[in-house]
Amino acid sequence: MYPAPFQYHRANTVDEAIRMLSDIGEGARVLAGGQSYLAILKLRFDEPTDLVDIGRIPDLDQIDDAGETVTIGALTTHNQIGSSTLAGSIPIISDCANGIADNQVRNRGTIGGSVASGDPSCDWPALLHTLDAEILCQGPGGTRTLDINGFVEDLYQTGLKPGEIITGLQFKKPAHGSGGAYCTFKRCAPAYPTISVGVQLTMTDGQVDAARIALGSAGLTPIRANAAEAELTGGSLTADQINKAAEAAVAAADPFDDQRGSVGFKQQLIATLTKRAIGIAQRRASGETIKNSHEYY
Ligand SMILES: Cc1cc2nc3c(=O)[nH]c(=O)nc-3n(C[C@H](O)[C@H](O)[C@H](O)COP(=O)(O)OP(=O)(O)OC[C@H]3O[C@@H](n4cnc5c(N)ncnc54)[C@H](O)[C@@H]3O)c2cc1C
Repeated sequence: MYPAPFQYHRANTVDEAIRMLSDIGEGARVLAGGQSYLAILKLRFDEPTDLVDIGRIPDLDQIDDAGETVTIGALTTHNQIGSSTLAGSIPIISDCANGIADNQVRNRGTIGGSVASGDPSCDWPALLHTLDAEILCQGPGGTRTLDINGFVEDLYQTGLKPGEIITGLQFKKPAHGSGGAYCTFKRCAPAYPTISVGVQLTMTDGQVDAARIALGSAGLTPIRANAAEAELTGGSLTADQINKAAEAAVAAADPFDDQRGSVGFKQQLIATLTKRAIGIAQRRASGETIKNSHEYY
């Protein structure tokens, strides 16, 4: 199907994009890489009057990881991130970026679009929960910084205000002694994950000081598994603690039956991937180099 007719506008700066969105009002939508939204337009799930293309705004596709805080511009593509020095130094970033869909999608799709879409199957929101990321936004009222926790309020619904765009994602570099892993299982490369689990551990002398566990494709929003994190915190990652964390992750999830699998299958995947991600994160925290990527059926 073809999309319903719309007016196309290209913004050259963030300020111009915000002005266009405000002037046009309710019928305006943002277009970035188009990898999620073009499908929505073609299926006529949305019929905007106007598209404001932010995809060529300069400088929104930069990664700044020079200091303790990392800032990734909203227009940075999955492939740019996957091939960056950042992905080389923080392996959980590489796990996520390099397994998203296929090369075509990774060349066009952006981290900002992944977060803004409010799609619980997108990989970046779950990953960014494990890094306590913040979302940098700009709108008619100025700039705001939002917590990734709770940003996706419901299916495809986010905390963005009308006329507001995401300009970047920001997080602190994981401390020395940290290790993370992002594990997903999916039907084939160009498919969204059936389930994904991100784990980030901060450890001292084999003890877990802090744990973050987040789930993707496991409910209507990305899910932070707080009770699972609590099972690991303060412990030395015994088999019993890891099993309890996996059970708590399953309890935190709210998956539904669909073409990707039954509820029971997804719950089994959550338990398996949680244990696997904890194991890889623990080994990385101790300094091991471990290759990890999305797995297919
Ligand atoms: C075949 C296929 C397979 C895929 N598989 C995966 C997968 O396995 N994992 C995964 O994570 N993703 C997957 N995707 C989605 C892909 O990663 C998208 O690129 C991404 O989700 C959206 O980024 P985009 O730049 O293309 O956004 P767009 O499609 O342009 O926009 C998506 C939505 O976000 C809004 N938006 C975009 N950017 C901004 C911004 N900066 N500020 C405010 N609003 C904004 C738009 O208005 C729109 O509502 C897949 C896509 C396809 C086509």
